[in-house]
Amino acid sequence: MNQILYVPDPILRQTSKKIKKITSKEIDISKKMIDLMLKAPGVGLAANQIGILKKIVTINLPNENNEKNKIYTLFNPIITSYSKKKVIMEEGCLSIPKQFADIERPENITIEYLNEKNEKIKEKKQGYEARILQHEIDHLYGRLFIDYLSSLKRNIIIKKVLKLKKAGDI
Ligand SMILES: [Zn+2]
Repeated sequence: MNQILYVPDPILRQTSKKIKKITSKEIDISKKMIDLMLKAPGVGLAANQIGILKKIVTINLPNENNEKNKIYTLFNPIITSYSKKKVIMEEGCLSIPKQFADIERPENITIEYLNEKNEKIKEKKQGYEARILQHEIDHLYGRLFIDYLSSLKRNIIIKKVLKLKKAGDI
């Protein structure tokens, strides 16, 4: 069973590879990722976070009306356009447990990805879903939300995670 990696694990800094064709192997990985994401629990997970360098992202989008969450997988996701308008939202990360920071990013995006059936999907995303996707797609390029902070703040957060790990709190 794969585990979620924490900073400063160097695997989190690597760029993952594009998948040529979605096969049962990739679908199995995505199912494992969804299990780990729901168990954590988290709103999103990138394959890098469990040490697999393939472009796979899973999403667990909360529903405002308390209905079922929207859970889905994106293979080879890319962002093809960003809105000029930016918004600040608080972010956290399963690889940086118990740490949060306000991060500014474009409000809306257009994404392209493949689904389980190798179909190419192009969609506009907004609000919280656009935010989660930008955070997760960053992971595929070895980028973390703390990279948008000053190096001072970033180092403080990494030290806090190391302390939590040492104390056995994560
Ligand atoms: Zn993350």
